[in-house]
Amino acid sequence: MKPAPFEYVAASSAADAVEALRRHGDEAKVLAGGQSLIPMLALRLARPAALVDINGCGDLLEIFARERAPLLAEALRWVAHPPIRNRGTVVGSIVHADPASELPALLLCLDGEVVARRRGGERVIAADQLYVAPLTTSLESDELATAVRFTLPPEGAGWGFAEVTRRHGDFALVGCAAVLALDGAGAVTHARLGFFGVGGTPVRSGPGESALLGRQPTPARIGEAAKAAAAALRPDGDLHATAEYRSTVAATLASRVLAAALERCGKAA
Ligand SMILES: Cc1cc2nc3c(=O)[nH]c(=O)nc-3n(C[C@H](O)[C@H](O)[C@H](O)COP(=O)(O)OP(=O)(O)OC[C@H]3O[C@@H](n4cnc5c(N)ncnc54)[C@H](O)[C@@H]3O)c2cc1C
Repeated sequence: MKPAPFEYVAASSAADAVEALRRHGDEAKVLAGGQSLIPMLALRLARPAALVDINGCGDLLEIFARERAPLLAEALRWVAHPPIRNRGTVVGSIVHADPASELPALLLCLDGEVVARRRGGERVIAADQLYVAPLTTSLESDELATAVRFTLPPEGAGWGFAEVTRRHGDFALVGCAAVLALDGAGAVTHARLGFFGVGGTPVRSGPGESALLGRQPTPARIGEAAKAAAAALRPDGDLHATAEYRSTVAATLASRVLAAALERCGKAA
């Protein structure tokens, strides 16, 4: 199938794109890398009257991250294949809100936020206020996401990341990321544990984190935290995996990424 007809708007700056979104109201969609949107247009799962192409917006092109956020660099290796990663954008992935995507879960684990701009103003949406349902965020139809910000973990923090896929480059059946920091006595002062592929939105695990905070992260305690985290998830079953499988894998991955994060604590990234 081919996409339904649409008006094509090539924006040359964020302000230009915001103006086009205002003009078209609910009828427009932003075109970033197109790696998710174009297939949806071709299948007519999305039928916007206008596409606002932001690839020519030079003011939206900066990425600052690599050395200071190795967790992000690791997670990006798991996103699809190089041709898709070369076209797809970080902001596009985050606002597309696929629950099996890596970056939305990292936005939660790294206390991130999205800057949303519409004509006449800007607002900042915290990660825990962004994800509403599969492929649905709290971004309004006339808002352009102009930036995504991640908060650097505390000095000396360690991180872990793991996912299970059927084939390399597939969306994750289950994925998990963790960040841990310790005080001088070895107790956990900062804990972030996030999952993807286990429900309608990415999940940050309150039970998993509170099982560790203020305590010594012994192997037994890490196991308990992983179990508590997995027990609180409500994964769906589908053609690719049952809910039970996802729960079991989530517990295993949580235990592995927490152990990896602990191992990296106090070491250079
Ligand atoms: C074969 C295949 C495998 C893939 N595997 C993975 C994977 O393993 N993990 C993963 O995370 N992703 C995967 N993806 C998705 C890929 O990473 C997408 O590129 C990404 O999810 C969307 O980014 P994009 O820049 O292409 O956005 P687009 O496709 O251009 O847009 C996606 C949606 O976000 C909206 N949007 C984009 N940018 C903005 C903005 N700045 N402001 C407001 N709205 C905006 C669009 O209007 C659209 O609704 C895969 C894709 C393919 C085709």
